[in-house]
Amino acid sequence: MSLNHGRSYLAIPGPSVMPDAVLQAMHRPSPNIYAGELIDLTASLIPDLLHVARSSQKVAIYIANGHGAWEAALANTVAPGERILLLATGNFGHGWADMAERLGAVVDRVEFGKRSPIDPTAVADALAKRNDYKAVMAVHVDTATSARSDIAAVRQVMDDAGSDALLFADCIASLGCDDFRFDDWGVDVMVTACQKGLMTPPGMAFVYFNDRADAARQGLAQVSPYWDWSPRVDPDMYYQYFCGTAPTHHLYGLRVALDMIKAEGLDNVFDRHRTLAQAIWAASDAWGQDGPLELNIQNPDHRSHAVTGVRIGAPLGTQLREWCEHQAGLTLGIGLGMAAPDDPAWHGFFRFGHMGHVNAQMVIGLVGTVDAGLKACAIDHGAGAVDAAARVIAAAPLPKVLAAKAEPCC
Ligand SMILES: *Cc1c(COP(=O)(O)O)cnc(C)c1O
Repeated sequence: MSLNHGRSYLAIPGPSVMPDAVLQAMHRPSPNIYAGELIDLTASLIPDLLHVARSSQKVAIYIANGHGAWEAALANTVAPGERILLLATGNFGHGWADMAERLGAVVDRVEFGKRSPIDPTAVADALAKRNDYKAVMAVHVDTATSARSDIAAVRQVMDDAGSDALLFADCIASLGCDDFRFDDWGVDVMVTACQKGLMTPPGMAFVYFNDRADAARQGLAQVSPYWDWSPRVDPDMYYQYFCGTAPTHHLYGLRVALDMIKAEGLDNVFDRHRTLAQAIWAASDAWGQDGPLELNIQNPDHRSHAVTGVRIGAPLGTQLREWCEHQAGLTLGIGLGMAAPDDPAWHGFFRFGHMGHVNAQMVIGLVGTVDAGLKACAIDHGAGAVDAAARVIAAAPLPKVLAAKAEPCC
């Protein structure tokens, strides 16, 4: 017997849960790519993409995943031999830096370990040692550790050090889930992709940049023609948005996703993600009262609102994930970068993905399912996790439809 027949739930940190309306918008014959509504629809995405990042600058679209956006950001700003400072809070920062090295950049790395966000003091120390960096690379939310860093604080220490470097931010996991302010935080280049907070199937990536970053682009002797952002943000012909055929169906999907974010309101989207994350943390704290389960990031102020890393000890992480998937239709994320894949310790981690089109009943179901999985796998755990999550959700402010009632339910 299996209890997993029914609608499955992919609770990993990307691809995220996608709205049916996004999928339905994509289910159509191919549109004309030379004239007609697709041209206007594409142009309409730009201001809404900028809005989600609170940017007044520019955004280039690529047919790519997040790795493509990583490469695009570097291809437009950094020449071989130039130096980059990576602020590493998990696997993803190192992945981006590895790519920079393969493109010929020289990378210095400040390591913050697997359980901490960026410490601005250490960044100041690094910039005191040398100050000839072309770029400082930071990951807003490193999806491997679930650490969320203070990007504005990084800008502050760069300014205090008189650094000319460009500030790069990877917001692939955070955009549309956690508040991010491109203009206010002084970011020069930001990369993201469509399959996490933007709730669209993998296949589109975005590079946001400002005039300072564009000046770096203009200063390069050579730029890869495919990754060049200039024609993409200022196309003479429609195909130049994408350097070729448009990602036709993704554009329709993304249009609906951005409409949904706008209709909900960006602040409400962030509040929803924060509250749902807090429900998962409350449940995890209850489990951790008795047994091995522990959140990877101890300080709630340093945690992502879109992904939560958990430590539980090998082989329990894998056992629990397998039970949840095959018995209950709930797929949890693997631990990433916490131990080598061939190390038995690799099986001691998992992650909750709670980004995108996720609501309270899904998170209560997620918590209840993991609670059942802990029991089924005979993993020691504290009692009251579902109750703790329910209390967080019950304490949330009421939506307008209930708040306006003469006799609200509570
Ligand atoms: C998902 C993710 C990536 C990689 O994106 P892909 O689409 O898998 O290439 C990079 N950085 C962060 C922070 C991510 O969450």
